[in-house]
Amino acid sequence: MDKIIKAILFGGKARVALIDTTETVNKAIKVHDLTPLAAAALGRSLTVGAYIESNLKHETNKFNLIINGGGPIGKIYVTSDRVGTVKGLVENPQVDLPLRKDGKLDVGGAVGKNGDIVIIKDLGLKEPYVGRSALISGEIAEDYNNYLFKSEGILNAVALGVLNDKDGCKAAGGIIIEAMPDADDNMVVILEDIMTNFTNISALIAEKGINEIAEYYFGHLDAEFFPEQTVQFRCDCWHKVRRIIKSLGRKEVEDIMKEQGKLEVKCDYCRKNYVYTEKDLDYLFEEDNK
Ligand SMILES: [Zn+2]
Repeated sequence: MDKIIKAILFGGKARVALIDTTETVNKAIKVHDLTPLAAAALGRSLTVGAYIESNLKHETNKFNLIINGGGPIGKIYVTSDRVGTVKGLVENPQVDLPLRKDGKLDVGGAVGKNGDIVIIKDLGLKEPYVGRSALISGEIAEDYNNYLFKSEGILNAVALGVLNDKDGCKAAGGIIIEAMPDADDNMVVILEDIMTNFTNISALIAEKGINEIAEYYFGHLDAEFFPEQTVQFRCDCWHKVRRIIKSLGRKEVEDIMKEQGKLEVKCDYCRKNYVYTEKDLDYLFEEDNK
């Protein structure tokens, strides 16, 4: 299963997260029939989502990540239904563009940069936390880096990547470093220097895996590692679908079923199609059915 390795560095003056989302991205490719370009854009976004989810303090906390750059891929949505999971979608999973001059996928061209990145966190408080910043390039890593700094005031570094091969995603993930307010300039220089090794982070993950990367690049920085967290692509729409149907009311649902012979609800996140007919009515409207 995919995982996240976290450590504090320099006795707590910085923290690093190494994220492997290879299986998560492969699941997303299957569910949404993504082109390699869409897989790269959604994959990077899912890695950010996995990171945000892993930092939520309580299991009832929720987040939504929305990237809207006005490019041909449309909007990107990432969210989570439960601890250790993430899910996402793009409006145009079939997006395709010519490769950039350097031979890389044109994620920035697909996402666009005329818009913003919005992160909503429901932390169980009266109002959800809403952070927002303008997109820089649509390449996602640069945009999340800018978001963390501008919207949350955190000095940080972000590397994200998705490496595709003919069978799907060979490796995906990222490295995110956040400096604490008491971090000194020396540390920042050291960390910036280390980050230069991660310009092709997905190839490095494919070659070494995140455990080895963590030890090799960060182990000597007075690092204290935490227990690994897992992450997977998963959708728990089942409850939500029943809630929506119940909210329509039995009469309305009966009418739809009479007219169309069935009631159909499709989940955009996992593409599951729920089909109910009149014989399901009693079951759908059971009293204890939440
Ligand atoms: Zn679903």
